[in-house]
Amino acid sequence: YSFKSMGLNSDLVENIKNKLGVEKPTNIQRRAIPILMSSISNNESKEENFDVVVQAETGSGKTLTYLFPIIHQLISITADIQDNKILSRSIGTLAIILTPTRELAIQILSVLEALINIPSSKQHHLAHWIVAGSVIGGEKRQSEKARLRKGINILVCTPGRLLDHLQNTKSFLVENLCWLILDEADRLLELGFEETLQSILKILEEKKNGSQPFPSTKFWPNRRQTVLCSATLKDEVKRLAGYALSNPIFIGG
Ligand code: AMP
Repeated sequence: YSFKSMGLNSDLVENIKNKLGVEKPTNIQRRAIPILMSSISNNESKEENFDVVVQAETGSGKTLTYLFPIIHQLISITADIQDNKILSRSIGTLAIILTPTRELAIQILSVLEALINIPSSKQHHLAHWIVAGSVIGGEKRQSEKARLRKGINILVCTPGRLLDHLQNTKSFLVENLCWLILDEADRLLELGFEETLQSILKILEEKKNGSQPFPSTKFWPNRRQTVLCSATLKDEVKRLAGYALSNPIFIGG
């Protein structure tokens, strides 16, 4: 079993191999990636299961499990979009990865940046417009706001800061959000973020647009996919999955 045989973009697979030395999928990647890849669908298909709970420990390769399919799908759905610097700003945030701590957010962002920086020799269209970034409260709010206004297409963040910006930062666009990842959900709850998560979910729901931002694009996810990752499936985590996700598939480690 290889990443390529799962249908992942070959430039992306090669990039991961060169930068992270990752060649063979781990157990959780083998099981979860094919399911996470299927969130691409045209508007006619009505998938019953769309949201996913991934039970996986740190060290199992869970970060790539959710990042890989997001980047792969962004490559596919934006392949026919012209190289356009304005795009990253006007399209706003397409994926949000919520994580319990700043340290984790920084780690995830560094993997994400390695993934999306496909070498320019490939002239890869993704590299021309996609912007990844984090909002973790490690800098002045004003400069975070400025970066959000410019457009962070894939955003890694901690819950408190995200809620703050959703409530207070104008031109932080989340209307086109396609993926929401709740990483280390058990720790998010242990750290007391449940109410913050509920407020975030409510705002995202209210802001949802639903119309396709690129009419020229063949594939666009027909609704937002939410993925919850957790090392344990305690009752609190199941309860969170119950209201944050819709009819999820469970994938065990
Ligand atoms: P994570 O579980 O996401 O915290 O990843 C733990 C570590 O495993 C990271 O250093 C990854 O770079 C590495 N890793 C992830 N997937 C693979 C893989 N398929 N083969 C080898 N190492 C991997």
